[in-house]
Amino acid sequence: MSKHPVDENCIFCKIVAGTIPSACVYEDEEVYAFLDVNPISRGHVLVVPRGHYRTLLNLPAGTGEALVSAMRVVAGALMEHCGCGGFNCISNNFSPAGQLVFHSHWHVVPRFDGDGLSAWPGGKYKDDTEMRQLAESIKERAAPARRRNL
Ligand code: AMP
Ligand code: ZN
Repeated sequence: MSKHPVDENCIFCKIVAGTIPSACVYEDEEVYAFLDVNPISRGHVLVVPRGHYRTLLNLPAGTGEALVSAMRVVAGALMEHCGCGGFNCISNNFSPAGQLVFHSHWHVVPRFDGDGLSAWPGGKYKDDTEMRQLAESIKERAAPARRRNL
């Protein structure tokens, strides 16, 4: 019996359990990493917690640390062996952000010079006041979360 929470209908839980095959590139007690079946670029890896947590907001603190450590290892291996010059780490959270699989995960996407993957467009704030007011409002809401060690 797994010490991690499981959702029996979740595709990533099935991959972690080995009931659906995957091309594993890394695993430890907390984390499982495998090739994305529809890669953005060659070597695109998904890094997932073994436990079923729907989004980044549901992760226990220690699991977040384990995921970042695993991403560092995977990204280092990609740079060494895939010949990529860089990488993006992306986590889609909730439907508006494009999350399709509700088992929290990170994409580690190898990047190559001239790979043609375009950057997100950068917008502008109306003025400095708007930017500072927004920062204050987010900061107020972030403070209690910091105290709860989220
Ligand atoms: P998202 O939830 O939008 O961050 O993306 C989920 C990702 O999971 C997509 O990039 C899919 O290609 C990938 N994916 C879904 N099923 C599998 C699978 N069985 N093996 C590997 N990757 C998968
Ligand atoms: Zn799951």
